[in-house]
Amino acid sequence: MSCLVKNRLVYLAALHSRSCHTVVAKSAVVTQPLNFLNGKRMEPVNTDKQQQFPLQYPATGEVLKTVQSSGAVDVDIAVTAAKNGQKIWASMSGFERGQVLKRAADICRSKQEELARAETFDTGKPIWEARFDIQGCSDSVEYYGGLASTISGEFLQLSKRNFAYTIREPLGVVGGIGAWNYPFQMATWKSAPALACGNAFVFKPSQMTPLSAVMLGEIYKEAGLPDGCYNVVQGEAETGQLLCNHPSIDKMTFTGSVPVGSKVMEACAKDIKHVTLELGGKSPLIIFEDSHLDNAVTGAMLANFLTQGQVCSNGTRVFVQKKILNQFLEKLVERTKKMKIGDPFAEDTTVGATISRQQADKVLSYIDIAKKEGATVLCGGEEVTPEPKYSKGQFISPCVLSNCHDDMTAVKDEIFGSVMSVLEFDSEEEVIDRANNTEFGLAGGVFTRDLCRAHRVIAQMQAGSLYVNNYNVYPVGVPFGGYKKSGIGRENGPEAIDYYSQVKSVYVEMNDVEAPF
Ligand code: NAD
Repeated sequence: MSCLVKNRLVYLAALHSRSCHTVVAKSAVVTQPLNFLNGKRMEPVNTDKQQQFPLQYPATGEVLKTVQSSGAVDVDIAVTAAKNGQKIWASMSGFERGQVLKRAADICRSKQEELARAETFDTGKPIWEARFDIQGCSDSVEYYGGLASTISGEFLQLSKRNFAYTIREPLGVVGGIGAWNYPFQMATWKSAPALACGNAFVFKPSQMTPLSAVMLGEIYKEAGLPDGCYNVVQGEAETGQLLCNHPSIDKMTFTGSVPVGSKVMEACAKDIKHVTLELGGKSPLIIFEDSHLDNAVTGAMLANFLTQGQVCSNGTRVFVQKKILNQFLEKLVERTKKMKIGDPFAEDTTVGATISRQQADKVLSYIDIAKKEGATVLCGGEEVTPEPKYSKGQFISPCVLSNCHDDMTAVKDEIFGSVMSVLEFDSEEEVIDRANNTEFGLAGGVFTRDLCRAHRVIAQMQAGSLYVNNYNVYPVGVPFGGYKKSGIGRENGPEAIDYYSQVKSVYVEMNDVEAPF
């Protein structure tokens, strides 16, 4: 994550040197349609007033738009457009598809500030964090642009000059559903590999964060993607179900909670649709007594406090070896208290707004339960109003809980807010068992100076993404995904290609046909 910090400094320097170009609008009432069908923005055909929802800026509660949910007709328009577009797209070579994606990556970079602002209005996260997210998304689109021309089958020489070859083919129309914490990342991490393989894509972003997915549609169009190959339908759970159940959808890729992931899988099971699930987590971060203490504290903060703690891979169970516990807590609390809560558009803000009233209440209620179950709040965990204009937003000070044990509710459940539970441990064997004692398996980390121990522990941890001496780093090309209930499939890396394509095997006989009859 040093990369994140470094990038932040680069951005700050750049902003100071050209502040006139980076004036950030403080209000962004949205007037344009937010569905993207067949290459253009459109309002849904559905006009049912019961199926509308407000898009609110989390910091102020300001309603930026009343969004109409997409109904069955809208989803059908999107899927039909995708089906038609896919035929053209799949007939192009991988190299040609890659060129379109690489152009899209360049356009994403040129629109980085605009995209980051939309992301901050949607999510309430600090603007510098949003910029960093967009930069990673541009890299991801470019990465799959590069991979597109390499997607191919294999030749297998068999006996008597017979041979077989495989063809790697697209699945057809891929449907995507996203969560609200990294909206542009969900749209790019799913659509870029899907498109690289020759699929068309229909995306339903979270109802809380509809803005950037449609902007990606315009970017793809400008880059030369044929109309219909990337579509966006806005809506809530019902729209998501319509997408999962549409007979012309060949695969669903979902990011969100375990209970909803299970519903998506259930809907897909009916027609045996392919499915990728990126779900929740309650990941362990283990800090051994020989760790570089300042790095370990930084790692624990990165593992808990980015994007107001609303990060699926967060290491929210921080196990600290007994000998260094007090020192660790002292440094951690001192630094956590210094985090700046406030205007998401201010460059020095490190804690922005929690996504919604409902989510803030959920986070605060977990802190209450933790206190009742015997945890000590060492800092934070309170709702604050950084300035009067934010009285209708929701801001929570980052919380460190000590005196935690493994069976506490806050230690077992995914809270999805800035709540770090610190747990004491004695031995390596003990901490591995405790770290793995969860239904989730998304991520995990170890801080130690002992190289052998680091790899020995990592090898025994049951999770898809693991870190040694850092946390929450996502370089392009490194696969990401969960073990156990945290998901099925992988995103972000060459592995994603396997989940957006299928293999056809062809046997070729070069001799007379032999048979036992
Ligand atoms: P959620 O499961 O409530 O919603 C996710 C999406 O599913 C939304 O777009 C929502 O409209 C849609 N949806 C809701 N009900 C549906 C239904 N019945 N059928 C189809 N779609 C439906 O999750 P959330 O609150 O948006 O996001 C938080 C969760 O996402 C956390 O659990 C977090 O860990 C997880 N997450 C996981 C990853 C990952 O990569 N593993 C990344 C980000 C977030």
